[in-house]
Amino acid sequence: MNPLMHLYILASGSKGNAAVVEGPQGSVLVDCGVSRKRLHERADEVGCDLQKVVAILVTHEHGDHTAGLSVICNHFDGPLYATVGTATGRKHLANLPFTLIDHDATLEVAGMHVQAFPTSHDVNDPMCFRFEVRDECGDGKRVLDAIGWATDTGYVTDEAQAALRGCRILGIEANHDVRMLATGPYPAYLKARVAGSAGHLSNDQAAQVLPQLITQDTEVVVALHLSQENNRPSIAVRTLAQVIGAQATNATFTEARTPDGTLTICAGAQDRPLVLW
Ligand SMILES: [Zn+2]
Ligand SMILES: [Zn+2]
Repeated sequence: MNPLMHLYILASGSKGNAAVVEGPQGSVLVDCGVSRKRLHERADEVGCDLQKVVAILVTHEHGDHTAGLSVICNHFDGPLYATVGTATGRKHLANLPFTLIDHDATLEVAGMHVQAFPTSHDVNDPMCFRFEVRDECGDGKRVLDAIGWATDTGYVTDEAQAALRGCRILGIEANHDVRMLATGPYPAYLKARVAGSAGHLSNDQAAQVLPQLITQDTEVVVALHLSQENNRPSIAVRTLAQVIGAQATNATFTEARTPDGTLTICAGAQDRPLVLW
């Protein structure tokens, strides 16, 4: 595949999420759970041009994905896509100018073909996305580049599994280590919620599905939405690395690579941005 899209993970975790997928004709902002100020600071840090954003996609209504949306929308004219469940899911979203789409919608945005797919989370009708740049000339479509994005899901839905396969860059939730969650500080009801089928993917769950998602086209797997209480980047990366035989590239095991050098595993962070080209 050709790197025709870039992924800027500006914040990832339970205290705020925002990512930009840059395509050939503009960019898409996926979620905005951080303030406008922080969004711009993070974008500036990594050279992400927010002026290129032509659409915003909202995965679901939780505050860590939407807290900054209303201020952002005061400065933004493009479409704001969400399901009706998300659009009506919180008071602070009630007056935003949503363009409603189904959780399995396809969109053509910024020179990208966007495929939505349903996730399993404790909200009404959440979704995530696969982004493709296609060559539509000639007979049929040819995928030139693909990025997958899946967070806030208690398990990998069939639709997610189909959509995430064979992406060049695969962003997948690795929220918690099951042992850290079980022995950690959360109250029992919250532990049950996080670990449940409408909660968050554990490192083990992400690792388990990984062999079905990666192909020879996959160059990067990035662990997303890591819990600061119930996970560590090194544990998430190590868990994913083990199932595909990748080895640490640094002493802290926050990045790993397969022996042939073709596939890298890393982790998005709450406190600093990450760019994947
Ligand atoms: Zn979240
Ligand atoms: Zn959520």
